Amino acid sequence: MKVVVLFSGGFDSIVLAHMALADGHDLNLLTLDYLHPARHREYASVAEWRRRYLSDEIRHLRISLPLSGVGDEGPRITPARNQVFVSMALNWAAAERIDQIWIGINAADHADYIDCRPDWLDAMDQLARPWGVTVRAPLIGKTKDEILTIARDLDVDMSIPWSCYEGQPRPCGTCNSCLSDPRRELDDWGTRPWSPIGRVR
Ligand SMILES: [Zn+2]
Repeated sequence: MKVVVLFSGGFDSIVLAHMALADGHDLNLLTLDYLHPARHREYASVAEWRRRYLSDEIRHLRISLPLSGVGDEGPRITPARNQVFVSMALNWAAAERIDQIWIGINAADHADYIDCRPDWLDAMDQLARPWGVTVRAPLIGKTKDEILTIARDLDVDMSIPWSCYEGQPRPCGTCNSCLSDPRRELDDWGTRPWSPIGRVR
């Protein structure tokens, strides 16, 4: 099966890419720049993952969009961001006969983000099907702890993903994404170079 994975370089999307590889899918990565503060840190994670795992069979497309985040605290919602992402992926998938689009939304996102909820996913899937494409979110019902278990089972390198909203040298430890980062449960969280300094738990 051919799959486009929406790939930010964050924890959930990297787990998703590993799941696609483990399932033997033909993997295509789509990374989007919407002028968000963490984009350069995310690119570093994307580049490192590509260096480690990208083969000739994995294609990577990066697109820039004139969107920006709203608000400095809390969820920092960019309206309809995922809707734009899936639409861009649909263009790629439909044009090149790619079967599925995978997005890394999960149970931890439902409360704060409209376009991370099951009814939104169903609507996007309905819009994509006439183009011969299905939209899937394999982590949709998973908690962060469950995603961490999947990551361990797939031997994901926990040091690669960048999930913090900020673009500082190390994760801030206080933003909405840092607070729900499943790596907080790791025994060495707080001591590794990729974990926040002094603001753990
Ligand atoms: Zn953060």
